[in-house]
Formats: sequence, structure tokens, C-alpha cells
Amino acid sequence: MINSYINQLIDYGINNKLLESDDIYYAVNKILKILDLTSFKREKNEEMPVFNEIMENIIDYAIEKKVLKSSTIAAKDAFEAMIVDSLLPRPSELNRIFYQKYKTGPMTATNYFHDFSKVTNYIKTERIKKDIKYLYQGKYASLDITINKSKPEKDPLDIISSNHDNSKYPMCPLCMENIGLYQTDNLAPRTNHRVVSLTLNHEVDKWGIQYSPYAYFNEHIIVLKKEHSPMYVNKKTFEELIDFLNKFPHYLIGSNAGLPIVGGSILSHHHFQGGRHDFPIEKARVLTTIKKNRMKVEVLDWPLSVVRIVGNNENKILDLVGQIFDFWINYSNESINIFSKTDTLHNAVTPIVKLDGANYNFYMIFRNNYTNKEFPYGMYHPDPSRFHIKKENIGLIETMGLAILPGRLEEEIEMIKKVLVNKESIDSYPELEKHGKWIKTMENKDLDNIDEFLKNEIGRIFEEVLEDCNVFKYGTNEDFINFVNKAIY
Ligand SMILES: [Zn+2]
Repeated sequence: MINSYINQLIDYGINNKLLESDDIYYAVNKILKILDLTSFKREKNEEMPVFNEIMENIIDYAIEKKVLKSSTIAAKDAFEAMIVDSLLPRPSELNRIFYQKYKTGPMTATNYFHDFSKVTNYIKTERIKKDIKYLYQGKYASLDITINKSKPEKDPLDIISSNHDNSKYPMCPLCMENIGLYQTDNLAPRTNHRVVSLTLNHEVDKWGIQYSPYAYFNEHIIVLKKEHSPMYVNKKTFEELIDFLNKFPHYLIGSNAGLPIVGGSILSHHHFQGGRHDFPIEKARVLTTIKKNRMKVEVLDWPLSVVRIVGNNENKILDLVGQIFDFWINYSNESINIFSKTDTLHNAVTPIVKLDGANYNFYMIFRNNYTNKEFPYGMYHPDPSRFHIKKENIGLIETMGLAILPGRLEEEIEMIKKVLVNKESIDSYPELEKHGKWIKTMENKDLDNIDEFLKNEIGRIFEEVLEDCNVFKYGTNEDFINFVNKAIY
């Protein structure tokens, strides 16, 4: 049977343009080596199962023959990535194809690379389908709620410590050393990992693009500096983002803030995230518009403090964004608890850019990572009373209104239903201890439609989590608008 499975996989490779006929025995022999086999017969496939089925059969064979000695998900994923790698072009070939397609248009090139990342199962399409997704009609906009079942929850304090480990190979999941790497433990499998080279802001081939294996939204792309060097968010970053948009105008692109607590999970490696998706923030109401130099600065009605700078002149946009950035970095207002500096700098910005026709829409989301005894996780971090729903850093994707909530919630919701509807004792479910106070508030509510009710509750708490991160939350909208006016003039 294994001979048929290999034949099926080879045909899958040919049908999906991963292999050409010249490559067949080259690929077969690599697979034979991995599976510890010594012969093969090319045969016509009677049926053509889907990728996952072929791969499951091959992996079952490998486990049965003890070629693969562990059957954990991580071990199976790594083994699958190694088998798939046998079908793939070398990175340089992929680059050539990508740039050949780019001549037709940037979207032709990214469509090709995105499809490639799906057919190689680098993007875990089937697993992503299991994520729970729904809309929550919030106060500001309809928010995208996702319960992410494929990625483990990280503690913000672990993120700070893991960013200091420089002895690992590769040093982080974004490093170029991951390309083709066989990996079974804490990092995602990378043998089938490919990066396309990119020139950004005149730095020739110093950058790369890849897709996220656990796409949080459509065509979730990661743009990374090839060199493992720390994230920075400053005027240079803004130029890099705009340059990316000029090269790939159909994408949105943004960066996490460059400081711990308010930044993303990998601060040690400069990178951006983007994709082809309309985010809730784009539909936010405009509280006030200030005109400046043929641009519009819109103060948005959003749970976090955010302005959108709109204009079609790249240099003017960069000047104005730079000016607002400089003003914010040094801005303190102790009467409303904004401390720009103690022993370190606390003010930061989450920048995001998207094109709307000829106009750049440049979002600047103001952030601050000040901590004190009362707020060890951060004054502008999710409040600990909401950690049961969301404890992790609020990164750029979430600031735009797309929640990425921990996968454990799926099971916990089922337990909560048993407590609320069937009146089971909460003590029978130790996992629910952290939800105790929340469950109490729901006990006397109308629970006829418990599923909808809980979905709304979770959406509401996520919205509050975003409000927790609002750097002007101790002041008023007027305070924020005054700040923006001062920053511009
Ligand atoms: Zn790195």
C-alpha cells in the first residue's frame, strides 16, 4: 500500500505544480530514504484522495514501521513537513518563480505564493477551519472574535524572558535558519518552510516574506528582516511600511509596538504583519477631523486611542506621522496617568497602513507600557479581572478589532453551560475557578439562548480588554483630541 500512497503524493505534487516530470524520481528517492524503503514502482492512481488523507496514510505507515517513533502532533507535523519538502523547489527557485509572476502583477505573485503555502500545508488550512469565529456587535463596531485552537496561550511575562535567549539555533521562529529545518518541539515544523526575498526601503534582498501557518485572517503575511535584530518602531519603520504597500498595494501592513507588554510576542526579530482583510477598525466612526496640509487627521471612536491620517502624498504622510510620533513619545500628562518615561521609555505606537484607492490610510494607535505595584502587568494592559478571557499582550491584530482568544475557552464554555443551565456545581470543574466571578454575574440572567448569550459576553469582555489598553482612559475624548491638535501644530 505504501507504494500507492507515494504515487498519490507524487501526483498531488504534479497536479499542484510543485513537481515537474523531471523531478519525479528525485522526489521519490528522497521520500524512500525518509521512509526507510529501498524500492518503488510508478503506477497509475486509481483514485486521488485529498492531501490530508494521503499524508495520514503515510504517517500511519511510518509509525507502524517505527520509522517515526513518536506520535505526538508536533512529531507528526514535523515528519509531514519533511515528506512535503521532498516535493518542493529550492528557495532560490521559488524566488525566481515569484518574481517572474511579479512582472505580471504583485497580486499574481502573492496569489502564487499563498496557494503554494496552502498546498504544501505550511498554512494549516484544515486546522484553521476548526477555529471558532463569529461577529460581536460592539459599541464601536462589529468586532471579529476568534477562539484560536491551534496556538498555545502565552504568558506576557514568559514573552519578556524568552526574548533574552540568544543561544538557540535558530534564535527565534522568524530567523532565516528555519528554512528547511527539521523540528519536533516547541516551534512549528519548518522543513517545508520557504521565504521569498524582498527589497524594502532600498535594502536590497535584506527582507523576506512568508505566510503565517496559523493564519488569523485572509492571506496573513509576515514580513521579516533577514537578520535577527530587535524590533524598532520609529520613522524608519513608517518608511518601510509605506514601501511595502507601494510594492504590494493590495495588502494591509502594520507593526506591533516595539516595547514589551504592548508589543507582540517576538520583540527580538524585526517584523511586520499584514494581509488581505478588512478589519473592524476601518469601519470606526470619526469623532473629529482635523485638516492639515491637504491631509485629514481623523480621531476615531475606538476602544483604544487612535488617529487615521489620510492623504495621497507619501512624503507628506511620512512627515506628519513622524511629527505625531515624536510628540507622543515625549508626551506625559500625569493628571491622567500618562507617564512617557520613568527609568525607561513607556510610550509607543502600533502603526498600520492600508491603501484606499490612491489614499494612504495610516493608523497610529497610541500605546504605553507603564507598570507599577498596582499594575504589574501594565496600566494599559488587559485588567487582571479579565485574564480569564484574555491575558496575553494586545498586539496589532487585536487593536484593529480582531480578537484572538485562547483555545481552552471552547471546552470551558461547555463546562460553563453545564453550571448555568444544568445547575451543576462549579466545584466539579477546577478549570472554571478563574471564571468564578463572571459565572456569578450570569446566574440570574435570561439564559434561553445560552450559546448566543455566552458569545456576546465574551465579545463584551474583549471590547473591555481593548478599552483597558486605551492610553487616555483616565481622561476624556477632549484630552485625546487636545493631544492630537498639539501634536499636529
Ligand atoms: Zn530571529
